[in-house]
Amino acid sequence: MSSAFDFEPQPRRASVAVDVGGVIVGGGAPVVVQSMTNTDTADVDQTVAQVAALHKAGSELVRITVDRDESAAAVPKIRERLLRLGIDVPLVGDFHYIGHKLLADHPACAEALAKYRINPGNVGFKDKKDKQFAEIIEMAMRYDKPVRIGVNWGSLDQELLTRLMNENQARGFPLTAQQVTRETIVQSALLSAELAEELGLPRNRIILSAKVSGVQDLIAVYAMLAARSDHALHLGLTEAGMGTKGIVASSASLGILMQQGIGDTIRISLTPEPGGDRTREVQVAQELLQVMGFRQFIPVVAACPGCGRTTSTVFQELAQKIQEDIRASMPVWREKYPGVEALKVAVMGCIVNGPGESKHADIGISLPGTGETPAAPVFIDGQKAMTLRGPKIAEEFQLLVADYIEKRYGRGQAAAE
Ligand code: SF4
Repeated sequence: MSSAFDFEPQPRRASVAVDVGGVIVGGGAPVVVQSMTNTDTADVDQTVAQVAALHKAGSELVRITVDRDESAAAVPKIRERLLRLGIDVPLVGDFHYIGHKLLADHPACAEALAKYRINPGNVGFKDKKDKQFAEIIEMAMRYDKPVRIGVNWGSLDQELLTRLMNENQARGFPLTAQQVTRETIVQSALLSAELAEELGLPRNRIILSAKVSGVQDLIAVYAMLAARSDHALHLGLTEAGMGTKGIVASSASLGILMQQGIGDTIRISLTPEPGGDRTREVQVAQELLQVMGFRQFIPVVAACPGCGRTTSTVFQELAQKIQEDIRASMPVWREKYPGVEALKVAVMGCIVNGPGESKHADIGISLPGTGETPAAPVFIDGQKAMTLRGPKIAEEFQLLVADYIEKRYGRGQAAAE
């Protein structure tokens, strides 16, 4: 018989810690949020601006494309400009096809990056494959950088896939084509890690990922990988898609894996709307970790969905305003109010659940529903503190939230406690 404890998060899978430019991935460290730019890396201005925005949003590692000489030459300039802006976020170089050559030809790039990402499916083909893979690993050892061996089924090692398909056929097809493909993805990651270790790269310099675009495939592949290695794992659903679909698919798959203790760093691969905000992927990653109770980044605003009992939009507007204010204020609050990320605010639409939910929050307001007396009780630390009335309820509640934060998390208060 199952118990409620069966549904608790599983202990984090034991993995080897990897230091990526001062950020620890694996070994039980908090799950790291990372992101990737979509600027042309050769465009230093644009790339610096986007890395800065991603970092400001909370990205702890930022990956940039290094696809040609011009982008490799830009990497040290980008790093330097960021440092001058006071931004010391580790940069990860994403290499395909010619990474070995770019790293050899651009030593300043090899030095400026905090990690190299290589894809065993397209590091080189036939007899060049192992040689070029070895050249990148040697670079990583020379510059003392970790690597992520990132398998992606859109660029899966076709020789390995063909071999495993043939072996499956010879055994009378005991596995489906889907199972063989999943096994190929896992083996591609593990065999490449084995080769890197044979070449001398220590295990604490290797992170693995195995990205696919199907939710069930992703869960299966990472469960297999987790069971068969102790490498730190980077989780991500590739080609997650746009808007809600991308968010739902990524959250479902990564949420299930992290609930099982699997995953040391995550990236949410959202396709932005044209001209959309790239930092959305960071926001989603943080919110996923926070709603699951694994990390805290920003105060949570609990708001009811609204229903026929509250026909005005006052509470929706207030909930939105409070959330936006919090997000905009966080870069300053993080410094000024240590611990503020644990704050819980409730903005509720009527008396049915309003007082109850507000009492569970640190500070909450229950707005009047349709036909209710136009009064909004405010609850602070579980107790009714006051009732707001009149046309300025929203503004007054915002001031109360600011006052609560100052009193509870202000440095003078923290020192006094
Ligand atoms: S708290 Fe009131 S307004 Fe909000 S969903 Fe519940 S019943 Fe509807």
